[in-house]
Amino acid sequence: MSLTGSTLKTLRNIVGDKGVLTSSAELAAYSFDGTTNWQSTPDVVVFPSCSENISEIMKLANDGNIPVTVRGAGTNLSGGSIPVSGGIVLCTARMNKIIEIDAANFTVSAEVGVVLNDLNQELTKRNLFFPPDPQSFLAATLGGCVSENAGGPYALKYGVFKHYLLGMTAVLPSGEVLELGGKTVKNVTGYDLPLLLCGSEGTLAVITQVTLRLLSLPPARQTVLAIFNEVATAGNAVHQILASGILPAKIELMDNWVIRRIEETTPLGLPLEAEAILLFELDGIAEAVNLETKGVIDLCRQAGATEVRAARDPEEAENFWTARRSGFSAVFGHSPTVMSEDVTVSPSRIPELINRIKDLAKTLDLTIVIIGHAGDGNLHPSVLTDRNDPDHYGRAELAIAEIFSAALELGGNVSGEHGIGLEKKKFLKYALSPDSIRLLKEIKKAFDPKGILNPGKIWE
Ligand SMILES: Cc1cc2nc3c(=O)[nH]c(=O)nc-3n(C[C@H](O)[C@H](O)[C@H](O)COP(=O)(O)OP(=O)(O)OC[C@H]3O[C@@H](n4cnc5c(N)ncnc54)[C@H](O)[C@@H]3O)c2cc1C
Repeated sequence: MSLTGSTLKTLRNIVGDKGVLTSSAELAAYSFDGTTNWQSTPDVVVFPSCSENISEIMKLANDGNIPVTVRGAGTNLSGGSIPVSGGIVLCTARMNKIIEIDAANFTVSAEVGVVLNDLNQELTKRNLFFPPDPQSFLAATLGGCVSENAGGPYALKYGVFKHYLLGMTAVLPSGEVLELGGKTVKNVTGYDLPLLLCGSEGTLAVITQVTLRLLSLPPARQTVLAIFNEVATAGNAVHQILASGILPAKIELMDNWVIRRIEETTPLGLPLEAEAILLFELDGIAEAVNLETKGVIDLCRQAGATEVRAARDPEEAENFWTARRSGFSAVFGHSPTVMSEDVTVSPSRIPELINRIKDLAKTLDLTIVIIGHAGDGNLHPSVLTDRNDPDHYGRAELAIAEIFSAALELGGNVSGEHGIGLEKKKFLKYALSPDSIRLLKEIKKAFDPKGILNPGKIWE
């Protein structure tokens, strides 16, 4: 759709001339997100500065039936911020103020455009800790993370965004501004609307401010690296550790492909023939961390690890974790199109799921790379392909469909943390019953009767 001159003029009146982009080069920059196979150009990009601006923009859009797609940093991996119906991209980048860090009560209130890393830096200065750690934290915004209910390696011990969300300000598609939830950890006052908006992928309302719960920084941390000849042995080690009563803050799994790419870019002396690496972080009081580190090392050895090392110092620990993060970038840098998926099973089913993915890679003659959060059962199998090669791309699509059905057969689901967006909407009907989908659509209608907010996402 194309917008009228009067709509563009009103948008300029609301956010100022500098807050409106319309040139084709500028619009192209907002036609992508973190995926490599979706693209659609908006008619205009606007940068509001406050909830009132957003309320006015939504009233204008609602009156004119103009689609609005909210965008934080555009790092999502499900096509969530792609403006598939054109219209307005509402980018929250200007709304980047941390409003209040209440250290006495362990809460923070912030605008949604605040980048997670900027928040973490402020919190660290005050000895405070916000655990959810999507590995895109250098760019991802609080609004995007709440809307995707993002998680990361710390989810095993500390949970994901929804576990820290206390309250929010949100603007309905009609322009009405709502104050939801509050500042207290306990709050059972009516339906939990902040929780409903958390993970709603920008389809119900525009979140403008959030209040999040904080913890105190753990006084000690230790990283341990364990190397295995077989993924199943690594899976067994994870089970033994969790069954022993030790709850590591993180347990991350990398496969042989990732190990080789890490050694090419940041050599850490990892054995190139290793089938799997587990990377652990233990945190808490120093004495407990020491005991738990010893426990993890012993249990990995007993489970059959070929090598186990505790990081020598925080610098070596940081190198290991940087390698884990760069594993993901290595995947994206290695082929023109990457289908990076996000399936979840119970941790004990991980070896089975991995074996099925490996069989698929062989049968379909594809490279499928596996990185995952081994402790909580969330795997990211990434199929390397090229959308310009129809035969290869077709096999990649088949592999993805097979991976989803394997996860469902093993009692899991089709998204642990990246959401449904465009990427997985055709699989939703296999994961949810028709009645659940009907109810979800009714909820959407109650919030957004005209269907202007992030149209085309979640269901077909
Ligand atoms: C290298 C890399 C590593 C990643 N690692 C992880 C990981 O470990 N864990 C994880 O969970 N994800 C991960 N992601 C995915 C992504 O970073 C997260 O989904 C993140 O939450 C997106 O934040 P964003 O600010 O980029 O949001 P965007 O991508 O801009 O938007 C995401 C969705 O939220 C909606 N939205 C954004 N802001 C608002 C708002 N204010 N109100 C309403 N809706 C809104 C958008 O419409 C869209 O549907 C990774 C991505 C990359 C590229």
